[in-house]
Amino acid sequence: MIKVKNLTKTYVREKALDNVSFSLGEGDILGFLGPNGAGKSTTMNIITGYLSADSGTVEIDGIDILENPTEAKKKIGYLPEIPPLYNDMTVQGYLEFIFKLKKIRLPMREHISKICDMVKITDVKGRIIKHLSKGYRQRVGLAQALLGEPPILILDEPTVGLDPQQIIEIRKLIRDLGKKHTIILSSHLLSEVQAVCDKIIIINNGKIVTEGLTDELTATGKSTTRMNLIIEGRMQQVYSLLQRIDGITNVTEQGECEKGCYEYVIESNRDVRRLIFRAFAKTDYNILSMKPVSVSLEDTYLDIITGKAEEENKNVSDI
Ligand code: ADP
Ligand code: MG
Repeated sequence: MIKVKNLTKTYVREKALDNVSFSLGEGDILGFLGPNGAGKSTTMNIITGYLSADSGTVEIDGIDILENPTEAKKKIGYLPEIPPLYNDMTVQGYLEFIFKLKKIRLPMREHISKICDMVKITDVKGRIIKHLSKGYRQRVGLAQALLGEPPILILDEPTVGLDPQQIIEIRKLIRDLGKKHTIILSSHLLSEVQAVCDKIIIINNGKIVTEGLTDELTATGKSTTRMNLIIEGRMQQVYSLLQRIDGITNVTEQGECEKGCYEYVIESNRDVRRLIFRAFAKTDYNILSMKPVSVSLEDTYLDIITGKAEEENKNVSDI
């Protein structure tokens, strides 16, 4: 249903996305999880055709978003981080406006009425948007995404700023919508994607760190594989060789443990043991030890958030 290949995006100085690829099938609910600044909104803006990538492709149901944006966009309902609401319009007036904008060919009043029932805003249809609570405004945002019955919904942090009761309601609504739609939802909360999504992708610093089925990631705790390696040979060369292996997302060097042998901790988003063996078999460096360390999904995400916080503190002290 959605195929994203090798997306890369650099804003003025900063690489926001670095070679992001993933795909999802019909009916999937995918959680796009990551701390602030990870690249979630950038990815969603590219998938929906509102932002162009420097390189990479997006296919929506077989249609390339760049080659045929109008057709591709018809298949997507998008709720951006800040919903595009016109605050002085009534809910009904706004939805009619979007209906016309999207050039939808369905009976208007009937269709809007059905969508309003679905997201439970029928009793506020006549109200001015700016007088609504944040929770209701978010439902109106969801209603505009649903207009025209697109099979795909892209929801950028749909529960941010809502109170706990509203969060529960919106999550339930999204799960219900998931029965008939393919959904990508972004969040910075692990508990949220675990509660709502059947697949999870963790993104950090513009790169996919972990991906898998929620049940598998949660049950086995094998979201990220971490391994402890001891390798004989020159540190710099070994380090860069490790970094180049497909699937390895992070390498840290732990120091010299025996003469000429260094210890490394690597993180990977899949089993890379064979790739490592093959890569080193071609060199003069010897693998002396390779020990997997189990990491749970919570640990992985906590590490990312803590790492992010440390980075931010460091930047503050640099100033
Ligand atoms: P998220 O939605 O996960 O919080 P974003 O996709 O908004 O992350 O941002 C990813 C990175 O790109 C961040 O470092 C952010 O500062 C940067 N960024 C986002 N939008 C812009 C922009 N319009 N101009 C420059 N940098 C941006
Ligand atoms: Mg965002």
